[in-house]
Amino acid sequence: MLLREVDYAKPSSVAEALALLAGNDGARALAGGQTLLNVMKARAASPDMLVDLDGLDELKGVELSADGTLTIGAMTTYAEILDSAEARARPILGEVCAQIADVQVRNRGTIGGNLCSNDPTNHLPPLMAAIGARMTIAGARGERTVAAGEFFLGVYMTAAGPGELLTRITVPPGRHDGFAAVTLGVDGTCIVNAAASLDGSFRVAVGCVDAVPVVVEAESTGAVRAAVHGAGLDPPSDVHASREYRLHLAEVLAERAALQAEGRS
Ligand SMILES: Cc1cc2nc3c(=O)[nH]c(=O)nc-3n(C[C@H](O)[C@H](O)[C@H](O)COP(=O)(O)OP(=O)(O)OC[C@H]3O[C@@H](n4cnc5c(N)ncnc54)[C@H](O)[C@@H]3O)c2cc1C
Repeated sequence: MLLREVDYAKPSSVAEALALLAGNDGARALAGGQTLLNVMKARAASPDMLVDLDGLDELKGVELSADGTLTIGAMTTYAEILDSAEARARPILGEVCAQIADVQVRNRGTIGGNLCSNDPTNHLPPLMAAIGARMTIAGARGERTVAAGEFFLGVYMTAAGPGELLTRITVPPGRHDGFAAVTLGVDGTCIVNAAASLDGSFRVAVGCVDAVPVVVEAESTGAVRAAVHGAGLDPPSDVHASREYRLHLAEVLAERAALQAEGRS
């Protein structure tokens, strides 16, 4: 389907992008376009102006600090994370990016777009919640940094509100992580996914079962299934899976992710 007519701007700085977004209620940031253009074609979104972030080098790249902290620009693509020597400091990042869709989506889709769309079936929101990533948001009143728990607010809703941009993601050091998913076919949309991180105890985030990743804590791999069971999940039924099957997968995949995380200890 053809797009409805839309204005297009390609700012040369984050400040200019923020001014465009703040000055036009109908403006939307355009990252890789892998979600936004599809929802525009489906007429589920109809922005008046696209503010293309592609030219903003200040939003791109992966930096590794001496203490192992990673800083990832919001416009860094999955393929760039996969290719980044720095990103290998937290190996799960590349491993999960490699599982997202196909080469075309991985070449265009960005970490920032994935997190800002907060589609409950996306791979990265639960991963960021499990590994304790922090999101930096820029707006007219400057910058603020929020944890995943404050960033993901609902389906397609995040703390990056109108007139604001997610600029970078900060990932603390660590290697003991796991991720497991059941998808529709190979590399397809997730039916349920789970990410786990071990740092003394487990932090496990389950995706596709609620509007935002559901985070539980567990002292051991043996306690993970009970922790997920105790979270009182109420996932939806749809053409892909029943509520009961998703509940079952949530426990199985959380345990699998935790076992992977523990296997790296
Ligand atoms: C065929 C196909 C299969 C897919 N399969 C998967 C999958 O298995 N797993 C998965 O996780 N994803 C999947 N996706 C989605 C894909 O990962 C998208 O790339 C991602 O969800 C959005 O990233 P984007 O860079 O394309 O963002 P865009 O589509 O450009 O933007 C998405 C939304 O985020 C906003 N936004 C983008 N960047 C910023 C920013 N820096 N600050 C504030 N707002 C911003 C935009 O305004 C828009 O509302 C798939 C997509 C396609 C087309």
